[in-house]
Amino acid sequence: MAEDYYEVLGLKKDASKEEIKKAYKTLAKKYHPDVNKESDSAEKFKKISEAYAVLSDDTKRPQYDQFGKEGFQNKYSQEDIFRNFDFNDIFGDIFSGDGSPFEMFFGGGRKRQKRGRDLRYDIEIEFEEAIFGCTKEIEIKKLDICDTCDGTGSKDGKLEACKECNGTGQVRVSRRTPFGSFVQVTGCSACNGEGKTITHPCKECNGSGRAHKIKKLKINIPAGVDNESQLRVSKEGESGVRGSISGDLYIVIYVKESEIFEREENNIYLEVPISFSQAALGDEVKIPTLEKEVTLKIPSGTQPGDKFKLSGKGAPYVDGYGRGDQIVIVRVITPKSLNKEQKKLFEELKKNEDKKSLLDKIKEFAKGKL
Ligand SMILES: [Zn+2]
Ligand SMILES: [Zn+2]
Repeated sequence: MAEDYYEVLGLKKDASKEEIKKAYKTLAKKYHPDVNKESDSAEKFKKISEAYAVLSDDTKRPQYDQFGKEGFQNKYSQEDIFRNFDFNDIFGDIFSGDGSPFEMFFGGGRKRQKRGRDLRYDIEIEFEEAIFGCTKEIEIKKLDICDTCDGTGSKDGKLEACKECNGTGQVRVSRRTPFGSFVQVTGCSACNGEGKTITHPCKECNGSGRAHKIKKLKINIPAGVDNESQLRVSKEGESGVRGSISGDLYIVIYVKESEIFEREENNIYLEVPISFSQAALGDEVKIPTLEKEVTLKIPSGTQPGDKFKLSGKGAPYVDGYGRGDQIVIVRVITPKSLNKEQKKLFEELKKNEDKKSLLDKIKEFAKGKL
């Protein structure tokens, strides 16, 4: 099987969410070890499940597209990859898909940390704000720590040993998995593997330790971000259950277009109209840049489309090392109407132009001599 997640599912890069789900369902039915008795079916099933876990996730898919598989896997552990994967959503009607996919693939028995979900927030900023960086105040609705119980979930702060697992946090169960049925030591579901239960749950949060809140955050957007850049704000996603680790917040930045500048990576392009006489005689023109105007010397004989580079006047690199350039593209404008005086001068000019035949000129032009 190929390694790229899209290839694993037999999809194109622009596949829709529906196509991704459909492809996975089809392949899962084929490779699910309950039905497929070939020796490598479990491995194949895990592979397609991993691809689906990433490509079906609105946060992870763009990161995979951006960083590639290696970069993505440096960022996410296997457990993280399967975190938001809802098995029952896919298999509820086909297989007995209980338990978390991670436990299914990697075995249970470990303490289950109910880490909070990652959140995504889209923000639109001005072109200049992206260039120079900015600070934004945002409000996010999320499950945050319950103030009443300080995230413990307990009204009086008291906990007692779980009766299901005698406080060990683990239970032995016989379960059906893609690898067949076997006895597994797994986290106790009564206490979430913590070994303790709450005697009097907090009334505010029903013992979860979390409450819906609106949180204000100040976000520093670094200079040089581009359209669809992502910022990860660590631990500002949803709170975990009863004080376990919070998810992260991903800020997706959309940059508005500039009225005059065009950005490509870290270079800034600007089209500047000049007249025939400026192009022929040369001139000094004031050019707007991202900061203040600069004077650009247009040499005599400048051609339409000629480019001039203003070094270091482009967008900064987000890592803080240097900037791109500004590229000025000259457009020579033919006057659409002439007054009497101008017309006379152009006619004078025409009389003075060289009298070579058009064919000769075409030949010279083809050789780049004109
Ligand atoms: Zn509470
Ligand atoms: Zn327990």
